[in-house]
Amino acid sequence: MEVSGWGRHPVTTADILEPVDSEMLKKIVTAQKKSDSLICRGAGRSYGDSSLADKIISSRFLDSFLELNETQNTIRCGAGVSLDAILKLCIPRGLFLKVVPGTRYVSVGGAIAADIHGKNHHVDGSFCNHVQSISLMLASGEIFFCSEHENSELFHASCGGMGLTGIIVDATIVLDKISSTSIQQQSLVANNLRECFDLLEENNSSKYSVAWLDCLSRGNELGRSMVFLGEHVDASQSKQNSNSTLKYRASRGINIPFSTPGFLINKLSMSIFNKTYFNLKKAGKQKSNVNYNSFFFPLDNIGIANWNKLYGSKGFVQYQFVIPSDAAFEGIQQVLNKVSSAGKGSFLSVLKKFGPENKNLLSFPKEGYTLALDFKREEQIFPLLDELDQIILEHDGRIYLTKDARMSEAVFKAGYSNWEDFLKIKTQFDPSCIFASKQSNRLGLS
Ligand SMILES: Cc1cc2nc3c(=O)[nH]c(=O)nc-3n(C[C@H](O)[C@H](O)[C@H](O)COP(=O)(O)OP(=O)(O)OC[C@H]3O[C@@H](n4cnc5c(N)ncnc54)[C@H](O)[C@@H]3O)c2cc1C
Repeated sequence: MEVSGWGRHPVTTADILEPVDSEMLKKIVTAQKKSDSLICRGAGRSYGDSSLADKIISSRFLDSFLELNETQNTIRCGAGVSLDAILKLCIPRGLFLKVVPGTRYVSVGGAIAADIHGKNHHVDGSFCNHVQSISLMLASGEIFFCSEHENSELFHASCGGMGLTGIIVDATIVLDKISSTSIQQQSLVANNLRECFDLLEENNSSKYSVAWLDCLSRGNELGRSMVFLGEHVDASQSKQNSNSTLKYRASRGINIPFSTPGFLINKLSMSIFNKTYFNLKKAGKQKSNVNYNSFFFPLDNIGIANWNKLYGSKGFVQYQFVIPSDAAFEGIQQVLNKVSSAGKGSFLSVLKKFGPENKNLLSFPKEGYTLALDFKREEQIFPLLDELDQIILEHDGRIYLTKDARMSEAVFKAGYSNWEDFLKIKTQFDPSCIFASKQSNRLGLS
């Protein structure tokens, strides 16, 4: 069967294996030979080839809730459960995930394997900072319990380990208490990149922050952007009654059954950005209470479920990198200059601030700034992305694995200084290297 990640590039032919219980999973894993690659796949929301292999094991059957502890605010669930399903169960109980990405349709296993981040990394760290423990099926078929205190080396290799140490079967996650699903949002305009950095720095204590950048602007307007800050509304301080505000909301999106010409996505984002930007510029700083869906998951809410098809039949590549704070402004300025003069990037890009890195060996975030840009796939973008790689490395940065579809082994190894320690642990628990993806083969991790 032909399969791809969210960016629809690359496309590969794979056997999709759909175990129905742990016994069947164990049989598949222990029968695996090194001659072909085997990797687990959750919701397939990673962009490139990290969940692609000759054989792909679906985690879909791991969809049970095992325990909700409302005294300790923890949930234990199967790794195939989606973040959306957790929110549906937890929101009416006044609980929320500590870290959510830009879409709620990712699985718990995928969130842990990529150690994903949200708009609050500078305050709360990444998803795995709130994972108490995981159960991991190893290449031997045994299931190991791993946490910060037990099998901690394996824990820190598997959190952010892109499925290469084994299959996460279930996890216990610590949740946040909330009294309302509303987010008090503050929207600000930045006329250029310097102003945008200044706003993010000044508002470092804001729980959530993110900037949308127009990446085709140039000269004095390079990096013109909108900055969005957010805090959970405290129902006891507002007139709202918490019972009425603790409501889960599903988003409704139509499916587009075919690919559309790539220019449509730019047209769509350009019109949304320009309208909001100029309104905001006229009105000045704005405060409003918005529903959590529109604050955290704007892309789930644009009304089109599979918006990735808007990039056309060749798909697209997302390029996300982080540069440490002291070099971030200069590095990001160079990247934006290159992208805008090549006229290749999509109209919108997303900038966030990261706090300190954690102990996970292959986790992406480190203290600094991260920028994510989309590129419609066409042959000319690959040499451009190679040039961007060099800018990132010169500024001591690295590229996000869960978005990557094309980085070289040398660029990966230069950016991820713990790769050798990771490989030692992988080899200890997976000596025949049965867990491998198209990405790990390309990056020299399998
Ligand atoms: C619209 C959109 C917005 C996004 N926004 C953000 C964001 O704000 N921040 C962010 O960090 N990421 C973001 N992402 C990326 C996404 O969060 C990650 O790619 C995440 O890993 C996807 O989870 P998944 O279940 O779809 O995993 P998949 O794509 O299926 O797999 C991703 C990786 O996880 C591994 N994996 C999956 N399940 C298991 C398991 N049970 N055991 C072991 N390994 C497993 C796979 O082998 C693979 O290496 C976004 C993606 C989209 C499409």
